[in-house]
Amino acid sequence: MRSISIFGATGSIGENTFDLICRAGGADAFRTVALTGGRNVVRLAEMARVLRAELAVCADEACLPALREALAGTGIETAAGAQAIAEAADRPADWVMSAIVGAAGLVPGLRALRHGRTLALANKESLVTAGPLLMATAAQHGARILPVDSEHSAIFQGLVGEDIATVERIILTASGGALRDWPLEALARATVAEALAHPNWSMGQRITIDSASMFNKALEVIETREYFGIDPDKIEVIIHPESLIHSMVGFQDGAIMAHIGAHDMRHSIGYALNWPQRAPLPVARLDLAQIATLTFRAPDLGRYPALRLCRDVMATRGLAGAGFNAAKEIALDHFFSGEIGFMDMAGVVETALARLSSDLCLETDVMTLEDILGADHLARVRATEAAVALGQTRHT
Ligand code: NDP
Repeated sequence: MRSISIFGATGSIGENTFDLICRAGGADAFRTVALTGGRNVVRLAEMARVLRAELAVCADEACLPALREALAGTGIETAAGAQAIAEAADRPADWVMSAIVGAAGLVPGLRALRHGRTLALANKESLVTAGPLLMATAAQHGARILPVDSEHSAIFQGLVGEDIATVERIILTASGGALRDWPLEALARATVAEALAHPNWSMGQRITIDSASMFNKALEVIETREYFGIDPDKIEVIIHPESLIHSMVGFQDGAIMAHIGAHDMRHSIGYALNWPQRAPLPVARLDLAQIATLTFRAPDLGRYPALRLCRDVMATRGLAGAGFNAAKEIALDHFFSGEIGFMDMAGVVETALARLSSDLCLETDVMTLEDILGADHLARVRATEAAVALGQTRHT
């Protein structure tokens, strides 16, 4: 029986993974080693009961008593805190889903790779923060990383049987997010609720805002560079409002392979779960005659400064990715709390990165986990300073 663990089980990707596991036979078909959540222990306990998990871990230690109570009498072990989540990744599992949101997903993913596991990677922040370390760890321990982000799953599928040396370009598609049709001058006033109204995808709150600002696409450009080892100049972004083409690979003979399908993360999760086979998946089948038209437009960098910033990050490499992701997470927190505006997020990240590059030498070829966590921490400090300063100017 295949054994699995799901990190971030209570989130949007985690729920979709749980759904596929249940449809594929649940506890009768899979041995569930560990399920982790953040604070939603009611849901975590429900999932743990259904899958008869061995261990359930919540990130927030204050939630542990509630988790224990919810699982009393089941024999399911419980634990809490970041360390317990990292230790859960040491438990043997054949297939591990990395779906914690943010940089908190890095350590458990890295620990799973050190044990040679197959890691289905939704947590793009890991590759942005520590791409070279993650890829080197996977290679060293014979582990495999399978992309779950729909764009990267599309590219991965487009490359089956192909020689990466023949790839001329990778075209990442972007929906443009909730505010894509707003006039540029109105964006500064966009509220959290407005930025959360994604036209196509139903996702976690943080990634939905990142989609509107295109910080999500900026992370994905870096993720593409790190995962496929492709030159940044070969990575393009195009707005495709229908979000039906999930990404494209262009080859040196002029052919473009496009991956097309419904907006449903269960496709790329299911592909990673069943890889290298394909299995039936409960996703909608497209009626192309009814869709009739697919449209594309070039992104305006004035609207989406994140797409410019990610190019600087790739030029610096080293610890710049860790700084970029951490500063972005802080900027997003301050947007959520209403201290800064939608268009201020990029300014916070740019200022934090400039300060970070005078604090630290970001351009390094060799990086340890400690270097990365140090850069992540300092970037959060610098971004908080920048966001607080901006917030004060806004409110005076
Ligand atoms: P959600 O916000 O829906 O879920 C996040 C999960 O992480 C929840 O289980 C949450 O727990 C848990 N969590 C939150 N903070 C912590 C923490 N500090 N330590 C441990 N666990 C924590 O996110 P998504 O499912 O949308 O996204 C997950 C990852 O997948 C992200 O990296 C995202 O970029 C990526 N991704 C998501 C896509 C999507 O369609 N949603 C598409 C492609 C990639 P709880 O809810 O219990 O507090």
